[in-house]
Parts: sequence; C-alpha cells; structure tokens
Amino acid sequence: MAKSAKIAKIRTPIVCVLGHVDHGKTSLLDRIRGSSVVSSEAGAITQHIGATLVPIEAIRAMSTSMQKIPVTVPGLLFIDTPGHHAFTTLRARGGALADMAIVVVDINEGFQPQTIEALQILRGCKTPFVVALTKIDRVHGWRVVENAPFLTTFAQQNERIQEFMETRHYEIVGKLSDLGFNCERFDRVQDFARNIAIVPISAHTGEGIADLLMVMIGLAQRYMEQSLAMSVDGPGCGTVLEVKEERGLGPTLDVILYDGTLSVGDEIMLASEDGVITTKVRSLLKPRPMKEILTEERFERVKSVVAASGVKVAAPNLDRVIAGSPLRGVRGDREAVATQIRQEMEEIHVKLVED
Ligand code: GDP
Repeated sequence: MAKSAKIAKIRTPIVCVLGHVDHGKTSLLDRIRGSSVVSSEAGAITQHIGATLVPIEAIRAMSTSMQKIPVTVPGLLFIDTPGHHAFTTLRARGGALADMAIVVVDINEGFQPQTIEALQILRGCKTPFVVALTKIDRVHGWRVVENAPFLTTFAQQNERIQEFMETRHYEIVGKLSDLGFNCERFDRVQDFARNIAIVPISAHTGEGIADLLMVMIGLAQRYMEQSLAMSVDGPGCGTVLEVKEERGLGPTLDVILYDGTLSVGDEIMLASEDGVITTKVRSLLKPRPMKEILTEERFERVKSVVAASGVKVAAPNLDRVIAGSPLRGVRGDREAVATQIRQEMEEIHVKLVED
C-alpha cells in the first residue's frame, strides 16, 4: 500500500471471466452490466466496444464497507466475451490481454474439466484471479436476500445450508490445493497476493456481487499496482478484437486499448494480410448509452481515449487487418514499431508478409 503514493496513475485493469460451460459466465457478465445503480455520469457503468467499464464509484455505491477505503484503481474493464478461447487469443505484448480473471464455479457442480483447464491457463500466464462460487440461490432451501453482501445473506440461512456451504467450500479449497493454489473464503483472506479468494455469489439474485467486485479491486490494488502503473501520455497500444464493416464508415476495428492514449489524427501501425501497414485514425467511436440506442447514430464520436477502454477505430485501409493483432500508436521510430508488431505476430504463429 505504501507504494501507491509514488505512482501517479494506475490504469483500469482488464478482466476476463473463465469457467466450465454453463457454470454461469455470461450470466455473471449480464448481472454486472445490469447492476447500474448510480446514474451520475462519473459513476455509471458504461458499455464500451467489446467490454464493460465498472468505475470505482459504482463499486463504492454497491458496497458500504468500501466507502472509506482509499483506492487508486479507477475501476474494472470486463471483456464481454467470456471463456478461455477469448483469454488465450486476446494478447498484449506477448502476455494475456486480461490483467486479472474470475473463474466461475457452479457451487452445485463443483470442479469440471474446463475449470481445471482455466486454472492451468491462468497459472501458465501468472494471471491473478478470484474464484466466484456461483448459483448459491440454487442451493436447496436458500433464502434469497436480493443484492445483499454474502455475509449478510449467509447469516440469514439455516444451519443445514450453512453447513452445506462450508462443506462445498472446503471441497473446492481442497481441489484448488491439489492443483497448488492456496485459497480461502474472501472474508478470511489476509493477504491477496498469497491467498486466492473464493467469493460465493448468485448472478440471478445479485447476492455477493458487490463483494466480488470489491475483492477484484483489492487484488488489483495490493498485487498489481506496479504492472498497472501507466503513462497516460504514452502512445496508444491495443489489441484488435474484430474487423467489422460498418454502414457509412467502411471497415472499422474494434479495439481494446490497454496502454497510453489514442487520439483522432494519430498515426497507427497494424498487422494486415499485406504485412505491417501504417494509417491514420480518422475517427474514434464509442457505443451510445442504452437509452439512445434507437437514434440514427449508434456511435458517439470522441476525440481521444485513454487505457483501458474498448473503442471502435475508423481509418483508411483497414479491410485486411488481422483480428487478434496489435495496434500501435507511432511516435518516432516506425521501423522499431514494425519490428515489434512482427515479433508479436510470430508469437501467435502468424508470419507477416515483408513489405
Ligand atoms: P456460461 O455457459 O458459463 O456462460 O453459462 P450461462 O451464464 O449461460 O448460464 C448457464 C445457465 O445457468 C443458464 O440457464 C443461467 O440462467 C443459469 N445460471 C447462471 N448463473 C446463475 C445463478 O447465479 N443462479 C441460478 N439459479 N442460475 C444461474
């Protein structure tokens, strides 16, 4: 914590949700998107291109216990596409694009093959994560306390359910320990850098969701301050999610910007089927808020975006850009940037045409 004073700015961590099929990844993301309890501009949960931004003000508003804690992490950016495929294919400078992960485990089903696979992938990438033990509302006889913190709702359950929860919890702790992970229920974790937190939640009733978001912030704060420290003024670095034709705009790129600032007029370099290309940002577009979705223009034009955010980039010559490839803002040595792009593409086994 003492280090935080020295760091001027921490960027928003990027979060990916992993877990076995049908364990509730999509429902958790939907719940997070829908839990927009604050209406003020600064605190609103906003839809980005390919991602959802939950600002710290929104998390504070959900959780009374967090109101007093000093926090430098500005919020959490959730990648909208869950699953290991998205996690492993979305890369940033040779590592995973996501800085942190949530592994979703259905409390009634426990560990399944893809749960183990997800944990192995996260270990391989050294990505910090939290386990969301979900669907607690499905535990037989569960008394729902809508949107309540876990400990509040847990206190309302009868002894049989409490015992069942503890048994399930320790089964999961045991399984994780067999895989070499040291875990505990989130309220018993002393040091987030050593223990992996397990947060019981329900995506259907909102129980435990505020705790989950708070634990993610705690993890970023204690464990990742150094890696999230950024220079806001640096050139934009991003990962291309998709190349999409948009009516009236031509081919555009859906990009997650993970470092620096990207502005209209910036020169950018990208990997395309024709090798590394250089172009200039013509426009940067963000989705309009939900209530305005019926208006003619689906996107709002912005002059610049700061990491981490999801943005649509319009520029000339984007039609042959490769999805999953890097986007780099250029300031200075173009050849060095082109070499970096080629190296990053080779890491994902794509050899670019030399120009
Ligand atoms: P995914 O394949 O991991 O993305 O799983 P989904 O989010 O699609 O969820 C699979 C099924 O579980 C759906 O029928 C969901 O409605 C249900 N589900 C997910 N989360 C919860 C939860 O917290 N409580 C209950 N009761 N059902 C849930």
